[in-house]
Amino acid sequence: MCQYQMEPEMLYKEIQRECIEKNAILVIVSKNQSLEAIKAYYDLGHRDFAENRVQNLLERKDALPADIRWHLIGHLQSNKVKNIIKFVHLIHTVDSLKLLEEISSQAEKEGRIIPVLIQIKVAEEESKYGLYPSALSGFLQEVFERKFEFIQVRGLMAMATFTADESQIRAEFQTIHTLFEESKSSPYIDSSIFTEISMGMSSDYKIALESGSTMIRVGSLLFQ
Ligand SMILES: *Cc1c(COP(=O)(O)O)cnc(C)c1O
Repeated sequence: MCQYQMEPEMLYKEIQRECIEKNAILVIVSKNQSLEAIKAYYDLGHRDFAENRVQNLLERKDALPADIRWHLIGHLQSNKVKNIIKFVHLIHTVDSLKLLEEISSQAEKEGRIIPVLIQIKVAEEESKYGLYPSALSGFLQEVFERKFEFIQVRGLMAMATFTADESQIRAEFQTIHTLFEESKSSPYIDSSIFTEISMGMSSDYKIALESGSTMIRVGSLLFQ
């Protein structure tokens, strides 16, 4: 693909343009990258960055400018929630009530309302994390009944199967989009804030944008 021959900065501008066209945002996944490489995107004006491990998130947050919006996109253990609650911008990977309870209690202590996404498992791979699509409506009802005052459920997050088969990726993203639309009309959701679908990575972000993603998480493609 020709995009791989582009300079990272040109590629960044091209992806930004594609996002604006679709009303989506680009979250740059900075895991495994040097602080200098991350700072280069910061200096271009970028502010949304993501890490998949709490420890790395904490280290990078301390080493980089304070106005970065840090997203957590990896599995979150309950015992680590308290470390990130002061500053995290969006937690993409909520998949249990137990985790929500911990986020809620730490958020209350901090007096912050924490936006979260529910992670859904659609990929073929035996990934350990995420709710099955069929479990979502029951989960949303339980969350509603618990009345978590310090949590905002902002939408869904998913990863497609790692495959060269574009039709399979598209089908999985469509499944998420349909699930999102169904959830929006659920009585257990505040549809005015349930607005985000976080899907699409370096290899499949174009398909994700065509399938209704509002937030793509791109890493390796931007750091070559
Ligand atoms: C690493 C990672 C990404 C980015 O992957 P790239 O292929 O490097 O773009 C996106 N989402 C999650 C959850 C990740 O762990």
